[in-house]
Amino acid sequence: MNARFRNRFVLTDSIDRVAGLYSLRSDEVAVFLVYRESTNAQGYLQPASPRERLRREFARLGDTVDRILELCPEHPYDDIVAQVVMPGWQRGGTVLVGDACGAVSLLAGQGGSLAIAGAALLGDILGSVTMPEGIGPALADFERRWRPVVEEAQAAGRRAASSFLPANRTQRLVRRWVIRASHLPGIDRLIARQIVGKIAR
Ligand SMILES: Cc1cc2nc3c(=O)[nH]c(=O)nc-3n(C[C@H](O)[C@H](O)[C@H](O)COP(=O)(O)OP(=O)(O)OC[C@H]3O[C@@H](n4cnc5c(N)ncnc54)[C@H](O)[C@@H]3O)c2cc1C
Repeated sequence: MNARFRNRFVLTDSIDRVAGLYSLRSDEVAVFLVYRESTNAQGYLQPASPRERLRREFARLGDTVDRILELCPEHPYDDIVAQVVMPGWQRGGTVLVGDACGAVSLLAGQGGSLAIAGAALLGDILGSVTMPEGIGPALADFERRWRPVVEEAQAAGRRAASSFLPANRTQRLVRRWVIRASHLPGIDRLIARQIVGKIAR
């Protein structure tokens, strides 16, 4: 498959499900399959082996996807695309950091970078604390300063959802225009900014 997809990033033009693949530097092709699934009342996905779910969800999407499903291992990496949104990060001398307070999801990317940069800021803020009673206010200050950055990345991730995984024909049409426009000089930067938000500039 690598020879067929070399230097290409290919997506299906489908609604509520997307199969994507791209060639790696090795002689392999990476594949991802993403779909919308309704959860049950507890918020859990319907039980089924990942491979069976994928075969059910991605049936009739063409020969290439059929081949991907044939090659799908029994236990592919299987995860939920979700964000963590907490009403508050800090209480007294305790604070949440990284994914625990603000996982942004793969649609925003940058989760690792945000976790590291947030930890660095927290270290700087705590570094100037000289008395134990200063810890709580310092942690609150961390939340006040860092939360807007995380929220912007999360908003960018939510914006990206409809073009990454169109839910209807209109969103699919918009995605086609966005993909076409992304070849135009200047527009490519605008689109990138819209997708990843200003923190990645
Ligand atoms: C498949 C995948 C691909 C990703 N790709 C990227 C990428 O390309 N770029 C990017 O920036 N981000 C990426 N991310 C996101 C990134 O991995 C996370 O945002 C980042 O790791 C968050 O860091 P963290 O320290 O908050 O949490 P984690 O990295 O999850 O660290 C939490 C740690 O706490 C430990 N732990 C949990 N409970 C306990 C307990 N009770 N006691 C002791 N230890 C405990 C866990 O074992 C873990 O080691 C990806 C995530 C996934 C899942």
